[in-house]
Amino acid sequence: MLIVDVDKCIGCGVCEANCTFGAITVEDGIAVVADTCTLCGSCVDTCEVEALHIEGAEKTVQADLSAWSGIWIFAESRHGVIAPVAFELLGIGRKLADQRGVELTAVLFGSGLADSAGDLIASGADKVLLADHPELAQYREDVFGRVLEQLVKEYKPEVLLAGATAIGRSVIPQVATLMGAGLTADCTGLAIREEDGMLLQTRPAFGGNIMATIECPHSRPQMATVRPNVMAPGEVDPDRNGTVVAVELSDELLDSRVQVLETVINEDEQVNIQEIEVLIAGGRGVESEKGFDLIQELAAELNGAVAASRAAVDAGWISYPHQVGQTGKTVCPKLYIACGISGAIQHAVGMQSAETVVAINRDENAPIFDLATFGLVGDLFEIVPLLTKKIKEQRGS
Ligand SMILES: Cc1cc2nc3c(=O)[nH]c(=O)nc-3n(C[C@H](O)[C@H](O)[C@H](O)COP(=O)(O)OP(=O)(O)OC[C@H]3O[C@@H](n4cnc5c(N)ncnc54)[C@H](O)[C@@H]3O)c2cc1C
Repeated sequence: MLIVDVDKCIGCGVCEANCTFGAITVEDGIAVVADTCTLCGSCVDTCEVEALHIEGAEKTVQADLSAWSGIWIFAESRHGVIAPVAFELLGIGRKLADQRGVELTAVLFGSGLADSAGDLIASGADKVLLADHPELAQYREDVFGRVLEQLVKEYKPEVLLAGATAIGRSVIPQVATLMGAGLTADCTGLAIREEDGMLLQTRPAFGGNIMATIECPHSRPQMATVRPNVMAPGEVDPDRNGTVVAVELSDELLDSRVQVLETVINEDEQVNIQEIEVLIAGGRGVESEKGFDLIQELAAELNGAVAASRAAVDAGWISYPHQVGQTGKTVCPKLYIACGISGAIQHAVGMQSAETVVAINRDENAPIFDLATFGLVGDLFEIVPLLTKKIKEQRGS
């Protein structure tokens, strides 16, 4: 709750002017807080007379921040295979570690993964902390969180990064809470500030309309999840040297309240649109599940896969794993053909790094044309079948 100290408040209105949510008004010379307050804290920082504070959010400065050193990445794996995002984290992690002049460590949990540790070293890690145990074969949040917390307490890394994937988003907040550390979710940029070595964590905010750079000056480790497909993977050098340290695991650490009965692969997730070079995306303009047959035909002809806007997913025409954008996946294919998609900012943030964008839209003013390499103004129900036919003909000849 945002508390106004009426003895200190001078009714200057700075908080009112700074509140993006319009949640503060000055009435009779005193700031008054409405229910719409999101506790973002920006008014607290701007109040020169320190009349505002958020109850329970007083800053506690951890003792001896300098005792924390080294960059860590959480190398996620599934079914014995290291996730591509782990190699992207090694790419950015290597840069950060070199800038700080510290070691880059990959933390790898699983069963039978000893051979994979070498891949992490070849891609940039100086050290791999390997927790290899049959009990870690399946992801269980409580066990992974506990083991990671123990390692963080023992080794004291200054930075801990994980992929903004289902697993990363579940294990990392748990560790941040246990450590009382800050966490920035879904980063698209990371850098070190030269003057003091602070990790600058950049992510889209306010619906993707601004980029916010966040720092955690009072606690360690500085923790962030990073969007897959945004960072370049580390360069592979099979001759790189590094050390693999086996993590000791007590029964107590491995004890879990979760029992995994079965793991089922979602048919829809068989195709990971983040790893495909050609994507044909459909939006509200596709009009129905049936309309997506046209999109599917073009995708098949180009050896690509089908993607979608949130409007199409929300309408139930296609399932969520196909969604591109702020609350979907970030993709960077060689070719992205957007059919009946307006190009809202929340969609654009997920596809704007595609190499070539082709937009098909009957509204010549649709924002998607600002991102497009080639634009086709017209009805997708005419253009898409024509395009598919032409490609078929070309292939045939
Ligand atoms: C917090 C938040 C998160 C969000 N996350 C995402 C996200 O991850 N991904 C996402 O996509 N959106 C997301 N959105 C929603 C986003 O703001 C847009 O509403 C959405 O992207 C619109 O989808 P669309 O372009 O398919 O539909 P519309 O904006 O309705 O556009 C449809 C387009 O199709 C064109 N069209 C219609 N019929 C035809 C035709 N026959 N031929 C050719 N063109 C035609 C129209 O001219 C129009 O430009 C989010 C919104 C919020 C608030």
